Amino acid sequence: MNTFLTFLGCGSSMGVPRADGYWGFCDKKNIKNYRTRCSVLISKGNNNILIDTSPDLRSQLLRNKIKNISSVLYTHKHADQTHGINDLRVFFLKNKKKLNIYADKTTLSYLKNNFSYFFNDGTEYPAILNANKLKSNFSLGSKKELIKFRSIKVRHGKINSIGYIFANTAYISDCNELSNSNLNKLKNLKYFIIDCLRFNPHPSHFSLDEVLDVLKEIKPANTILTNLHSDLDYNILLQKLPINVKPAFDGLKMQL
Ligand SMILES: [Zn+2]
Repeated sequence: MNTFLTFLGCGSSMGVPRADGYWGFCDKKNIKNYRTRCSVLISKGNNNILIDTSPDLRSQLLRNKIKNISSVLYTHKHADQTHGINDLRVFFLKNKKKLNIYADKTTLSYLKNNFSYFFNDGTEYPAILNANKLKSNFSLGSKKELIKFRSIKVRHGKINSIGYIFANTAYISDCNELSNSNLNKLKNLKYFIIDCLRFNPHPSHFSLDEVLDVLKEIKPANTILTNLHSDLDYNILLQKLPINVKPAFDGLKMQL
């Protein structure tokens, strides 16, 4: 059974355009420049695994006609990865059971402190989520729909973020540094999906030149750039990239 990955969103924290209509250097006539906040769906049969609950989750699910979610993995606690969590309620109503979410200790305590009503039965609404501490190796789904994952801790400014490796693909949406131990785990992938915020350096995200340096070390067959800021117009960026490196766009679906 084939595994697919869909980019639900590939934009930086404020999206492109921003809420005030600012497009930066992006050509507003190119639909590929319309970017919601970072999130992907990994699917195999009916096993639909969501990475992060962006503030755009509802519109992302509607646009991509995603009718169910089996589990949710989190990369880190920042608002652009977590604040769409409310939109998971529909899957509790639909499946009549709690949805399993997986995250590291810091992200789980952030979610439990700020969205406690999802984890504790309150007076009005039942708890809808099961919080699971992330392991370094795990699998989700059953039988033919099973997907194996490896999680790695990566640097994202002052905090750590989680990168996920599955089906010869890595997804690292927020990162500014990869250790040697990380690089060893990322060699010779089919798809390397990586944070590439902008051309200029940034304290918590990779810039384009930094990504190109990483590629020399790990030599993936294909690289897809995500977490793209409004500095990066799709066509201008594409022209500057090697043939096997492409910018993501919302709605991009790939067979892994
Ligand atoms: Zn972040």
